[in-house]
Amino acid sequence: MKDVIVIGGGIIGLCAAEKLVSQGHEVTIIEKDRIAAGASYGNAAGFAFSEVMPMASYTTILQSLRWIMDPAGPFSIIPQDLPYTLNWLIRFALASRKSTFEQSLRVQAKLMQLGKTTLPQMLERTNLDKMVNTTGALYLYDTKSQYLAAQKSWRLRQKYDVEYECYQGSELHRYQPGLANNIFGGIHSPNFQLVSNPNDFCLAIHKHIQPNAVATIYHNVVGLTPKEGRVEVALQGADSLMADKVIIAAGPWSGELSRALGDNVPLTGERGYNTTLPKSALPDLTRTIFFAPHGFVIAPLADGVRVGGASEIARLDRPANYKRSDALLRKAKALVPELQLTDGEQWMGIRPTTPDTLPVIGTASRHPNVIYAFGHGHLGLTQATATAQLIYEIVSGQKRSIDPDSLSASRF
Ligand SMILES: Cc1cc2nc3c(=O)[nH]c(=O)nc-3n(C[C@H](O)[C@H](O)[C@H](O)COP(=O)(O)OP(=O)(O)OC[C@H]3O[C@@H](n4cnc5c(N)ncnc54)[C@H](O)[C@@H]3O)c2cc1C
Repeated sequence: MKDVIVIGGGIIGLCAAEKLVSQGHEVTIIEKDRIAAGASYGNAAGFAFSEVMPMASYTTILQSLRWIMDPAGPFSIIPQDLPYTLNWLIRFALASRKSTFEQSLRVQAKLMQLGKTTLPQMLERTNLDKMVNTTGALYLYDTKSQYLAAQKSWRLRQKYDVEYECYQGSELHRYQPGLANNIFGGIHSPNFQLVSNPNDFCLAIHKHIQPNAVATIYHNVVGLTPKEGRVEVALQGADSLMADKVIIAAGPWSGELSRALGDNVPLTGERGYNTTLPKSALPDLTRTIFFAPHGFVIAPLADGVRVGGASEIARLDRPANYKRSDALLRKAKALVPELQLTDGEQWMGIRPTTPDTLPVIGTASRHPNVIYAFGHGHLGLTQATATAQLIYEIVSGQKRSIDPDSLSASRF
């Protein structure tokens, strides 16, 4: 049995803590704000096991170049922040090369497979299976050319065990009523699952581990020092703590902590926006619908309808620009005319994203007792239980389910 400190009370830290506690380890969570303070609070609630394609790809670059022309479009780079983000952008472009893309695709698919196995196990242990539904997701394409181009990507996904069915014309509109008439086709993937509300899910996992976890401490971690086979964790304004193992699961803020340990992981804050409307805004929506060519999603939460997406590359402390949420809402209304736009709550969250859009899961290069678990980008909720499994394997010295080099910090 080890005593383990987990830095960060987001979905990654919580799932790692839950898995370790379930295997008899003693865990302390240190959170600087509150449980699910970051992107884990308000994401689009999807276990997107259909999303095996890495974001770092020529397709994304071409689409982003089109989107960036539109000032309210779903992709934006803040020019003033380029001194902080340019290195990441260049590395993202380099990681989109065919060879890196294909390598990332194989790793991504393995993470998804592991997630498909570990999610139900975690739901059973925590008794939270009622929070997750399996109605799948519908990906929509307004033009015939977009729809046909998407087929290629779906055929490739199929090789990695992603199932799908195609719908066109009147068949699509019968399958998903309420869409604008001009939407040409849709692809339904049953591999997608939805949690009733991501914040509630985090709080429920935390509640489940509370009686077993040693403690949850609300402090800002300001540094780590490996000492005599253990690790000292320095807290702002409080005495430091010691542990056998320390897991850095601090979302986009993990970059600073890992840099201080000698690992220069190029992590960026990729900001996303959404608006959560009352349930009555689209009461009959039963599954997530994706408007991939427009960069947003509509998700039916238990207590609302969440319209969101976008990708804004900016420095971590830049204030939110909610014009982006407004633009997404306008687009959503054009594509789903029945959607009622009143009484929405706007939110911005920061995705922790690496250039090859795969997470960093593994030990620090020079400090085997510090373990990284960050950089999940668009897929942190989806890959949280797979990450937890890998963390458990590292802590308990077991053979890794996924080749450690493919997710290591030193790959950059
Ligand atoms: C609009 C949007 C939609 C998304 N939709 C989906 C989706 O449908 N499916 C999906 O899988 N993913 C989705 N994501 C991505 C997902 O939300 C993230 O990948 C995930 O939440 C990252 O979790 P995390 O625990 O790594 O980070 P976070 O949620 O950011 O948690 C990190 C925590 O660490 C704490 N912390 C930071 N620094 C310190 C420190 N020094 N000391 C102590 N505590 C610290 C923070 O306060 C925070 O609570 C979406 C993201 C956005 C923005």
